[in-house]
Parts: sequence; structure tokens; C-alpha cells
Amino acid sequence: MGKKQASPSRVFYWDHSTTRHYTFEAKLRALLKETRIGAHLQSGDLTAVKIHFGERGTTSFISATWLKPILDFLRKCGARPFLTDTNTLYAGSRGNGVSHALLAREHGFDPAVLQAPVVIADGIRGTNQTQVSFQGKHFQACHLAGDITAADAMLNCSHFTGHHLCGFAGALKNLAMGCASPRGKMQQHSTTGPVAQSDKCIGCGACREVCPTGALIREKDQTVGVIQERCTGCALCLLACPANALSPNWDTRGRDFLEKMGEYAAAVLSVFKSPVLHLNFLLGITPGCDCEGRSQPPVCPDLGILASYDPVALDQASLNLVNSAAWAHAGSPEKEAALFPGIPPGTQGDHLLRYAERLGIGSRAHTVVSL
Ligand code: SF4
Ligand code: SF4
Repeated sequence: MGKKQASPSRVFYWDHSTTRHYTFEAKLRALLKETRIGAHLQSGDLTAVKIHFGERGTTSFISATWLKPILDFLRKCGARPFLTDTNTLYAGSRGNGVSHALLAREHGFDPAVLQAPVVIADGIRGTNQTQVSFQGKHFQACHLAGDITAADAMLNCSHFTGHHLCGFAGALKNLAMGCASPRGKMQQHSTTGPVAQSDKCIGCGACREVCPTGALIREKDQTVGVIQERCTGCALCLLACPANALSPNWDTRGRDFLEKMGEYAAAVLSVFKSPVLHLNFLLGITPGCDCEGRSQPPVCPDLGILASYDPVALDQASLNLVNSAAWAHAGSPEKEAALFPGIPPGTQGDHLLRYAERLGIGSRAHTVVSL
């Protein structure tokens, strides 16, 4: 766990405006210089730039154009950056490392242009993972993507949006869910094994072959049954099923889910010796996250880019900005609260911030340093 911060954390804020003579690239460089990220990077550091490449159909993910100056800056500091994300728990365009990397390329993350490869950090089948010890209320061990824990340094770049389970998706979620292997994601989402949908099952047996504990059995009708007591939640069966007939039990209680996310975020930060810089992109702020695979109208105007070494302060500052801007935009707090449920105190997003603060990974108190 990180150390409790004595004074309010600093959050650097650029409102995204530029002039003809002070370009986007120059302003982004100025933001990074202000954070002094160069002082925390060693020459040759393999640096994970954690982003979300956008589910197929999503149009408002962080663009390669926004990232290029950041990657250039990291290289100038001597680091060797690579772009990274992890496989999803559900079958889809990002459910395995091969289609995930191809989708990243399709969405403009071209290693030849960006001079940074795309590495799906938990491997082609989501099994490249590291077990990280953690003494929390919910976990004693967290399962993180192997190539994130193997990196020397990390930059956490998040598209700030709403989220139907967490209230909002920002730096904390990008750490917690975004750096976990499928097993780690399943641990956060569920307290039980997978749920089998017999109407979708084609009886191929692929799940039973990969299950390490014999928790899956063939039912009389050839479909699959789950012996919950034997299941360790490894998620291998979900990844093996060609028919999307197995799904996590998404019915985790809300507050527990958020606390588990907080513990995973803390576990990710615990593996890095040097401070992790977090960047929230408040551009194209949609009510749902980039996993939704659909185009969504934004809830408020573009607000800019924020950076901080404190993910709690950063998410809190981002929420505050969206809150006031969105309300002004929509003309009514009630209307906006329905669009972006992480905003009001006492909601999901609020509990995540408080719990993360309690874990000592950051502070909601912050000062905003405008560029
Ligand atoms: S999650 Fe793992 S242990 Fe549980 S049923 Fe699936 S393969 Fe078996
Ligand atoms: S892998 Fe999927 S389709 Fe095949 S038996 Fe298992 S649940 Fe059914």
C-alpha cells in the first residue's frame, strides 16, 4: 500500500486550448514537464503506457494522436514505452491477445507510427499473470497482468467516462480492472464461479478441458454444469468457450465490488518502485465506458487533460470538473446525475474514492495547478 499523503496532492490541469504558436504537442509536453516525470525514469526503463484501445464500435477512446507526443516525451527521457491493455472477461474483440492487438491496430495504434509496440499484458490467452501479495479486507493476493508487473515503470492514461457499475471510470478503474488478468477481473466482479447458460452451450467440452479443478461437468443434456465449491475463479473456461455460454456472476454487491477495485488498484501501485504518473483525458466524456462498443453522445463539453501522481486526487478533481461542467451544460443537476451516476456524493464513485483513500493510495484533498 502507498503512504498516506500529508498535504493535498497536486493535480495539473490543461484545459486543452492551444494557439497557432503554442500547439497541442507543445502544450502536452509542457504538462508532462510540469509533472517532472523525467526525474522518475531511468534510461532504458521499459515503461507500460496503460490505455484502453476502445471496444469495436466505440468511437471516443483516447486517440493515438493524443498519445504520440506523450510517447515521444517518454523516449526523450530515455524510457522505452510500450502501449498496453489486458484481455476482457467476456468473449469479444478484446477477449484474447491476438484479436485485441489487431483491434488496437484498427483503431490507429500503429507501432510504426507511434514507435511503441502494442503488448497485451496478460498474453494471448489471459494467462500471463503474476500473483501479488496484498493484505486487504477482501484479498490476500491479486492476479495482475504479467507484462505490467514486469515493466520498470508505468504511465496510467485513462479516458474519463461514466460507468454503470462504478459510477465513473478513471485512473482507479484503469489500474484495478485494467491491469488485472481475467482471473483478477473475475475476483473483483464475483464471489462465485461462472454461470453457465444452457441455451447457448453447444456441448463442445472446451471448458472442461481447460478447467484445472474439475469444477465443470457434463449434464445429461450435454450442456455444462458448474460445481461452485471446486471453482477457484481462474476464468480459463470463460476464455475457452467459443459460444459465450459462460459468464462471470456479475451479481457482486456494489460496495464490495468497489472496495475490491480499490484493493486491486493499490496492489498494482505496490509493484512499482518509482511513482506512477496518472493522466485523465476529459475529452469526449460519455455516460458509459469505452468497453460498451457503441457511439455515445458526450455528457458535457471537452474539459482537457489532468495529470497527477495521486490517482484518488486525480479522479476526484476530474469528477468535480465534470460535475460542474455537466450541470451547467445540462441545465439541471438531477438530469445530469442520471446521465453520469458517479457524480453525486454517496453514490458508487464516491465510495470508491473514499475506500481508496482509506487504503492510503491517495487523497481526495487536492489543489489544481492550471497550466
Ligand atoms: S473459473 Fe477456472 S476453476 Fe472455475 S470452472 Fe472455470 S476453469 Fe474451472
Ligand atoms: S466451452 Fe462453452 S459451449 Fe463448449 S461445453 Fe463449455 S460452456 Fe458449452
